[in-house]
Amino acid sequence: MSMTDDLTAGGVLGYEVFVSESIPLALPDRLPNGEGRTWAPISTTLVYGERDAVLIDPPLTAAQAEAIGDRIQTGGKRLTHILATHAHGDHWFTADMLAGRFPGAQVTALAATIEQMHRVLTTRKNFWDKILPGQIPASPVTAVPPDGNRVDLENHELVLVDVGHSDTDDTGVVHIPDLHVVVAGDVLYNGVHQFLVDSGNGGRDAWRQAISVVEALTPRQIVAGHKIKERDDDAARIIAETRRYLDDVDELLPRHPTPEGFFNAMLDRHPGHINASSLWGSAQALYADR
Ligand SMILES: [Zn+2]
Repeated sequence: MSMTDDLTAGGVLGYEVFVSESIPLALPDRLPNGEGRTWAPISTTLVYGERDAVLIDPPLTAAQAEAIGDRIQTGGKRLTHILATHAHGDHWFTADMLAGRFPGAQVTALAATIEQMHRVLTTRKNFWDKILPGQIPASPVTAVPPDGNRVDLENHELVLVDVGHSDTDDTGVVHIPDLHVVVAGDVLYNGVHQFLVDSGNGGRDAWRQAISVVEALTPRQIVAGHKIKERDDDAARIIAETRRYLDDVDELLPRHPTPEGFFNAMLDRHPGHINASSLWGSAQALYADR
């Protein structure tokens, strides 16, 4: 390592998490507990050095992206990259809007994730624009895979690690070794009901393997793609809680003949979790699959 690298390695490096709060969806149905349908809070992470910054997981709606853009602008760092951990629209649909606001910022994701983005785009009209009409900006796929799956931030590495299936296929996490942080997209959840629609049958075991890949990176902090704003990013707690949620699903599914029974049992097990709307969507999909 050169002297310059040593000096830079001792320089400013930090991260900040913006949590876009839960929003109501334009769906008429209600949950079995009477609540309306909502989208989960979304975590967007800014990793910053002295001059430059990298944004990870731009949010879903134009209003959310505008608020985050204002925060980035106030901070005064030059945005070099916008990374997406996976292809679900709530982690990249505003990437192009933010890239337009911060010229020079390159939208970046794993090659396999980019292929999934094209697939997700085909569901936009019949799903995303129905649940959030008029709220999502234009979302062309502009991402390119980074060289060697690494992005440089003032001589600190951000490594895009392919972890396979988590709450959807072809997902990645961003490992920042110099911060001991993993920005985990939807591999880990922090106090928010987990999205199980794409994880019937073997999907939950693949998800467990993805969690083990993150654990092996030995992070101290994990930014979960969906978190309760006030919660810390303690890696050990978040890993244990996300695993326990998947174990509870496997235990309770065979014990309950109806999605309503499963929904209520999961609520009892996880009384502190938010966005039960996602649990209800998951329950309906898992029981339709059986
Ligand atoms: Zn998500």
